[in-house]
Amino acid sequence: MVRPKPSMDEVVALAKRRGFIFPSSEIYGGVNGAWDYGPVGVELKRNVRAAWWRHMVELRDDVVGVDTSILMSPDVWRASGHLEHFHDLMVDCRTCKKRFRADELSGERCPSCGNATLTQPRAFHMMFKTYIGAMEDASSVAYLRPETAQGIFVDFKSIYQTGRKKPPFGVAQIGKAFRNEITPGNFIFRSREFEQMELEFFVPVQPESEGMRWFDYWVEQRHNWFLGLGIQPSRLRRHVYSGADLAHYSRATTDLEYDFPFGWGELEGIAHRASFDLQRHVDASGKDLSFFDEESKEKFLPAVIEPSLGVDRACLVFLLDAYEKEADRTVLHLHPRLAPYKTAVFPLVRNKPDIVEMAVRIERSLRPSLRTVFDDSGNVGKRYYRQDEIGTPLCVTVDYESLDRQDVTVRERDSKEQKRISVDRLASYLKHAIEPDDTAVLDSVAR
Ligand code: ATP
Repeated sequence: MVRPKPSMDEVVALAKRRGFIFPSSEIYGGVNGAWDYGPVGVELKRNVRAAWWRHMVELRDDVVGVDTSILMSPDVWRASGHLEHFHDLMVDCRTCKKRFRADELSGERCPSCGNATLTQPRAFHMMFKTYIGAMEDASSVAYLRPETAQGIFVDFKSIYQTGRKKPPFGVAQIGKAFRNEITPGNFIFRSREFEQMELEFFVPVQPESEGMRWFDYWVEQRHNWFLGLGIQPSRLRRHVYSGADLAHYSRATTDLEYDFPFGWGELEGIAHRASFDLQRHVDASGKDLSFFDEESKEKFLPAVIEPSLGVDRACLVFLLDAYEKEADRTVLHLHPRLAPYKTAVFPLVRNKPDIVEMAVRIERSLRPSLRTVFDDSGNVGKRYYRQDEIGTPLCVTVDYESLDRQDVTVRERDSKEQKRISVDRLASYLKHAIEPDDTAVLDSVAR
């Protein structure tokens, strides 16, 4: 059964109330398009990154990782085409002063105030400009990167030589990106500072069918990654680009779209970019970035397949998809791998030192192997309520009987079912219930 779609407001309110995500600089009125992750949000975000890295790097033998810098030579952006083309068309309303992206408008009238007082579209450059060093002049201009991919392209040679890989192989990176979006909004869907997880998967240009085979493979892999982390299948679909919608260099592009509260929107893009990016850097830098195959003695510039996903957009989707308002509680059905805490440990009451001491001891013993949290505030009902709202899959309660019987109550988030588990079996029981076995994933990434 598909869960009813929550409104964005419900999820924004929960995110703020429970410490997932707050507006940046809120005490000064906030800054548009920037967000802060709170104590549980940071755990969710780390888990999303880790799940991606595990799937895309650790469980594969054909992908290596890198972490390249945010500040790069401006020549990179000249070569990549960003300096020339990375702009959106912007339209202002002369009456209400609202600003829109031209491609979001459907008529001559302002969607906000209804007047026919829109300006002509003007190009608005989306890269953030800054200066390197003490002098603020034209020679010191630099840009905050608008995507992580270029760091991989410009380092391509060093990476394949030191990573000891040959195509087909991939390079993965997770890091911040910055875009001066005209209309940031829909919570963390579109912000000005965000994070990307990108894979550049390099394949031989010949035969061409191999490139398309890898493209199809990655669309499938990426789609399944979301399903494996619990996304409801009917909320995810593919948008296949064709004709004029396809970038001129792209052989194929497919977006994974999610059914957001505001409608279907891009979650992740997967593009077959041919040799476009490497070729641009070869032309601009004069450096040979082609791959030399020692065996065949052949030299070639590989094509690249790029799955590109926003960390924040993925966090939003996991939150929206997991959210459910039941009659007596709100629950986040987060996949255990993504849940901020795997287990919460409670003493039933706070005024019985034996019970508290036993709960403290159990929580400490679990902590080295599981992300746990100790909670003794309010009554047990309130604690369950709080843990359900942040998606903790299992709660452990130490009660009066625990002292004699050396067992505890383990309560499952989704079913609310409770079981007595003996203390000596507890760690292995929880680990088994929570930690996914990656053997199946290992099989599924096989080529
Ligand atoms: P759009 O056309 O909606 O501006 P795009 O097609 O330019 O987006 P890409 O450059 O393909 O986006 O970015 C790859 C991924 O990075 C997106 O699928 C999305 O998950 C994420 N992303 C891009 N821009 C933003 C943003 N401003 N805020 C949050 N995530 C973003």
